[in-house]
Amino acid sequence: MVDAMEILYSFEIPKLHDSVVRYQGWQAPKTVIYHADCDASFSATWPEYYHPGNGYCTRAHYYVCPFCGHRSNPSREHVGLIINKSDAIPIDIIFSIVSCKDWVDLQMQGHQVVLMGDQLIKQPKRFYQTIRFDFKSLRVLFIDDVKGEKKVKIYDLEHISGTTNNLYGYVGMLHQCRTRSAAINYAPQFRMLFKVLRLEFEKRMSAITGYRVKDVYQATGVSNEHGYGAGMIFNMAWRMVFPDGPALTKPLSFQLWEWSRAGNKAINADVINLGRRYHSFYDALIRGHNITYLKPFMRRWLHKNPGSITAFKGIVMLSDDINEQRLLLDVLSRKQHILLRIFDDAQALVFLKRFRKEYKNQLIPFLSNHFEWDIITMYSQLEAENKATFWETHPKLRDVHDELVNILNKQRFEYVELLKADGLAEKSNGLEFVIPETGADLVNIGVALKNCVRSYTNKIQQGQCIIVGVKKANKFVACLELKPLQGNGALLVQAKLYANKSVHTNKTINNKVLSWAYRHRIAPNTSDIDVKLFEKQKGA
Ligand SMILES: [Zn+2]
Repeated sequence: MVDAMEILYSFEIPKLHDSVVRYQGWQAPKTVIYHADCDASFSATWPEYYHPGNGYCTRAHYYVCPFCGHRSNPSREHVGLIINKSDAIPIDIIFSIVSCKDWVDLQMQGHQVVLMGDQLIKQPKRFYQTIRFDFKSLRVLFIDDVKGEKKVKIYDLEHISGTTNNLYGYVGMLHQCRTRSAAINYAPQFRMLFKVLRLEFEKRMSAITGYRVKDVYQATGVSNEHGYGAGMIFNMAWRMVFPDGPALTKPLSFQLWEWSRAGNKAINADVINLGRRYHSFYDALIRGHNITYLKPFMRRWLHKNPGSITAFKGIVMLSDDINEQRLLLDVLSRKQHILLRIFDDAQALVFLKRFRKEYKNQLIPFLSNHFEWDIITMYSQLEAENKATFWETHPKLRDVHDELVNILNKQRFEYVELLKADGLAEKSNGLEFVIPETGADLVNIGVALKNCVRSYTNKIQQGQCIIVGVKKANKFVACLELKPLQGNGALLVQAKLYANKSVHTNKTINNKVLSWAYRHRIAPNTSDIDVKLFEKQKGA
């Protein structure tokens, strides 16, 4: 026995597009145009022009049809644009709302043109598409009937916000009813279509839940992004599972998506299944995430930000102090763009837990003012002993980031062994000349003298230069760069004090460095050092 079907509403757009143009400025020499009135296509070469949003485009929508002589008027006519290879552009379309015992359909049928490589556009083909609201399984299906073979897609709430950018697969030709199509002249019919659909949906859902299901309506409008009514259709798919929850608005779907991680989605399979088994939305959310002890302030939070469910476990793990938990949620909401997912990230939690132990009540100010994600990235790259060093150093909140940069740099350079330069190291006249042996030694000189000597690692290893650190009273005071000469000896090409000041600005060091240099057959070859100063001293 076949269930009785009833058509609740139907309307037709006999000419949705006047012509279809293969659009983008592809390198294809020809652009194909389909003229709907002639039901035929032709191709020709058109000049390109540059459009700031679309790149190079063709002027193909200005054409004279070779079949009927029609001169196109793109500002008044409806031009369908094939932009992606997979685009199918409807030429005519009939919308119907069909009601049956267990489901309500939004059906679309008509003719479409598709692009076949470089060929002319083929004769329009029939299409049958159905968006089915199945009240038995509480699912929404998109059924695309291609030559009698049905392709079925189930609206996937887990990925619902990720899919809103790729609507075609879910709303079919509805997606092509955009501002540049004739749909713009059928606003009253579209309003009626969606009103009939919505009222029937509300009636069916209310019969299931026993209460009036609200917030189904969402404004239907022509928009290039979504086509007619797509937002409401997604909200209906959502409301079938969570009829008592908040409506799936754009900000909510953004939050549910953005606050979730691949491994921990706010709306996960468990939450959805609980919703389908008639649990209330918040109950499904809490149970679906195994939150065993929910404090009243967290429940209030959930009502404001359902996406915050993914942060609860981490926050409870970080602190058992209810005031601090509340502050952590507060800071999360104020700094969403930075702290997104922080309480749901294993590496971040390891760092924050230790931070709270070492810095006590400074965690909130740190998160509010000084947190950056590369702090987590850098910390998790540190070896255990360097992690320990970091906590021992206990930098000020605002220096946490830079201190991690330093430690990580040292770690990276520590194992680089530098070429040996024998015989240059010595202690004389109260100065100590040292040759760095590892990358870490170079980093130390660079940090002490505030210069970039660490970037010389490769040059040193290739034998192109020798770096000499100069210490006084066991502190670095200068840094020298030598260029080895073939055979024997070297040139002194740089001699810098703190912050790249030239050595000659300190007479004592200038003269002691020169005396060391001459003894080792190193010829000064830089204005960093003053030879006259040295001669004067010798002469004196
Ligand atoms: Zn024509």
